[in-house]
Amino acid sequence: MKTERQRQPRPVWPRPWLAHDRRGFVRCLGQQAAAIAGLLVALALLAYGLWYGAVLPVAHRWAVFGVRQVAVQERLVALTFDDGPQPPYTEQILQVLDRFQVRATFFEIGRQIDRYPALTQAVIQRGHELGNHSYSHRNLILRWPGEIAAEIAETDRRLRAAGVAGPIAVRPPLGKRWLILPYLLWRSQRTLAMWNVDSGDYDPAADVSALVQQVLTQVQPGSIVLMHDGSLDPRQSRDRTVAALAVLIPALRDRGYRLVTLQELLRSAQAHGWTASTQD
Ligand SMILES: [Zn+2]
Repeated sequence: MKTERQRQPRPVWPRPWLAHDRRGFVRCLGQQAAAIAGLLVALALLAYGLWYGAVLPVAHRWAVFGVRQVAVQERLVALTFDDGPQPPYTEQILQVLDRFQVRATFFEIGRQIDRYPALTQAVIQRGHELGNHSYSHRNLILRWPGEIAAEIAETDRRLRAAGVAGPIAVRPPLGKRWLILPYLLWRSQRTLAMWNVDSGDYDPAADVSALVQQVLTQVQPGSIVLMHDGSLDPRQSRDRTVAALAVLIPALRDRGYRLVTLQELLRSAQAHGWTASTQD
């Protein structure tokens, strides 16, 4: 004979308390999930703000994150051109530089050197300086150290094969350089070349006079000026850069500036006992 206790139905799964108030439980669970999601979003926004508002601006002043301006006694400025070589703009820029007898620095992409080796030769033969702008122009943040090293080594190899002697400075694609690239370059005592004057020539809204003014209002002795002789977007021409350069060079000279290559700028600082700095 079964006892009263044995006749009781066994609890079903889910448990009875849940079965009785399942909707309430789900609602409670939803509220908790929403609260946690809200908290996570708030934390992410705070971290983003701190990172870009406080950490990076301070960290990027350290020399290991790149030379943006060089402490010099003379009024020297280095014009730099990224993303080439690329026809027809590299050749047009070379012609303007020839006309004014100016030597500049070209940070070339390895893949572009493969496509237009004769243009790289033309840059070298006309006495300009070449730098490394990675092989494929991918953002080098959050990549494996071996991948980053290969991006730099591939372009180094091409520049050396083209006849480049002496130190080769590196400019990271898009200026992105956290954290492995600075370490790799620091370890091999190489210059991470940034800029403190951005011409903004990649901005489709900026006309020639805006580009010129953009540079003239920011330039200081020891400035490194960012311009582009190549364009990763085939729809975007560099005609404005070529035109702006022809106006900019005499305007800088009128203000007493002498235009030099990046290595000349760095050597000039060392010659006077200064060190390259990243001052604002
Ligand atoms: Zn670039």
